[in-house]
Amino acid sequence: MADILKQSFCCAGACTHYFDEKRKCRTCGKKFIFFAEEQKYWYEDLGFDLSADCVDCCACRKSEQRRRALLRRYEELFHVSDRSVEENLEMARFTLDLIEEGTVTTKRLETVRMLLNRVPPEQRESAEYLELRERTKKLEVRSEG
Ligand SMILES: [Zn+2]
Repeated sequence: MADILKQSFCCAGACTHYFDEKRKCRTCGKKFIFFAEEQKYWYEDLGFDLSADCVDCCACRKSEQRRRALLRRYEELFHVSDRSVEENLEMARFTLDLIEEGTVTTKRLETVRMLLNRVPPEQRESAEYLELRERTKKLEVRSEG
């Protein structure tokens, strides 16, 4: 049962009942169900317009949220003018994540190298630094081949 007073709609008209709906994920192609309870939450609690449709499965929506959070953090760090060693490592990690998932190209390895080179020599034995170096090397090999 829907509470139409909580819905926002313009042209589609109100919706009086929600039903489980079968969907196919736009991103991964898997079948999923857009549950009636979810629809109620979307259209009444979150205030989404009724024309807003659920096109991605739960897993894809979550990974998209993670990706957006990552990009936001990346941008935040990008604008810090005097980044600490930790922040440089964090940014190098984000950049590697973005390269690995294909969001940015391997040209960004240049940025990663620059960030890693800013780590003072006495801190280059840390597990994190070595791990990031290793990931960079793997991507370098991949981009050459
Ligand atoms: Zn999916």
